[in-house]
Amino acid sequence: MAVMKFGGTSVGTAKAMQQAIAIVAGQRRTGVPLVVLSACSGITNKLIQIAEAAGAGRIEEALARVGEVRKHHLELVDGLITGEALRAELAEKIDAYVSHLEMLSKGIEIVGELTERSKDMFCSFGELLSTTVFAAAMNEQGHRSQWLDIRQVMITDDRYGFARPIEEICEAKVAGLIRPVLDSGVIVVTQGYIGSTEAGKTTTLGRGGSDLSAALLGAWLHDDSIQIWTDVDGVMTCDPRLVAEARSIRIMTFSEAAELAYLGAKVLHPDTIAPAVRKNIPVYVLNTWHPDSKGTLITDDPALLSGMSYDGLVKSIAVKKGQAIVNVRSNRMFGRHGFMNELFGVFERFGVSVEMISTSEVSVSLTVDDSSVSEPLIHALSAIGDVELEHHVATVSVVGDNLRMSKGVAGRIFASLRNVNLRMISQGASEINVGVVVDEHDVAAAVSALHCEFFSGEQCGIFEKPAGS
Ligand code: ASP
Ligand code: MG
Repeated sequence: MAVMKFGGTSVGTAKAMQQAIAIVAGQRRTGVPLVVLSACSGITNKLIQIAEAAGAGRIEEALARVGEVRKHHLELVDGLITGEALRAELAEKIDAYVSHLEMLSKGIEIVGELTERSKDMFCSFGELLSTTVFAAAMNEQGHRSQWLDIRQVMITDDRYGFARPIEEICEAKVAGLIRPVLDSGVIVVTQGYIGSTEAGKTTTLGRGGSDLSAALLGAWLHDDSIQIWTDVDGVMTCDPRLVAEARSIRIMTFSEAAELAYLGAKVLHPDTIAPAVRKNIPVYVLNTWHPDSKGTLITDDPALLSGMSYDGLVKSIAVKKGQAIVNVRSNRMFGRHGFMNELFGVFERFGVSVEMISTSEVSVSLTVDDSSVSEPLIHALSAIGDVELEHHVATVSVVGDNLRMSKGVAGRIFASLRNVNLRMISQGASEINVGVVVDEHDVAAAVSALHCEFFSGEQCGIFEKPAGS
């Protein structure tokens, strides 16, 4: 049995939803899946705009956008549902959600304050709406399905905007509310991303949280696989917009996938990996528009890995733009202890996450998100040493488990990058990544040089040409 999760672009239009329904129906022969959906693409952003407009007293704007949300979902119904009675029933359900959203907007306008808790309430409507239409369309097309409000199952703490599940409670709820339905042969259609506190207050797991919902539910159900259906051909050797020869990677380990996600690859939410790793459930990243392509299998299962062994070095190249280098230089560092502690204490105080680090005896260079650099942060760092900043840089990282045991990798990396100005170099402590920092303008040149070095001539079976190319 599988959890099948469809992202926003896979349910964003009637055409996409129909494609997703066909994919679910196609798997019905081999088992009864749990279907987890995102909101239609763009809707969560719109809900946040509604919340913010209401909070700032711009109620006209908020209500106009609520109207857009309504229109979008009514159009979905128009494109997907044929029966008149069912259309009317769905229009009524959509209107019920919409009037709830309007009431919420007006309430927030009156109170004049938008809290994280009420923001989560706004955000929950995207998934509630997408799943409502999807489940109805499934049933109309003869695929017996039941819509489930996941807030009965995904019981979380009350960290609104970034809630985490209380696993024992959730597992019991899964056993009581989902398992019996699946066992009776009925597909369950439910929401990713949202949950509820024990007291019944709506929460969200954070942006992009539907992947995490799918992984958690798969783990609690002890499923055979978790399928993340999206609009790209799985995990690629690099961003295909940067290098046309990018290939999709058939198989990779959890640590490679997690590392890639942290280093900027867009496909997976890093936290998605954890619940699946714990239970060793294979995760497939698949393309809704090319359902017959193999996509990427992420697994640590030695049996699966040995079936597709890879003796190349690099699996993928990840890019993270919008970074800044912070150089801190101080002679006090020399032969002293406690300096690093002091330095990182500053970042800690400002809640700024440090990405890449490289040090010498008298200076430390680190990269942070450019948007997290502030005057007060620089001021505080200046108390420790001389601070220099370089904006608009990007980290480019090569990732692969085989890097750990291989000689000559650094030589190949630097030889291929001989024409690119490297601002900083770092080998990840996991030893499965090597990263360089370059000017944002040099990203394309750096990535294509690395791709050419490590992937041209790779005839190995673990890479696949994207189906669309
Ligand atoms: N709809 C939510 C978001 O856009 C969750 C998700 O799509 O994973 O962040
Ligand atoms: Mg998503």
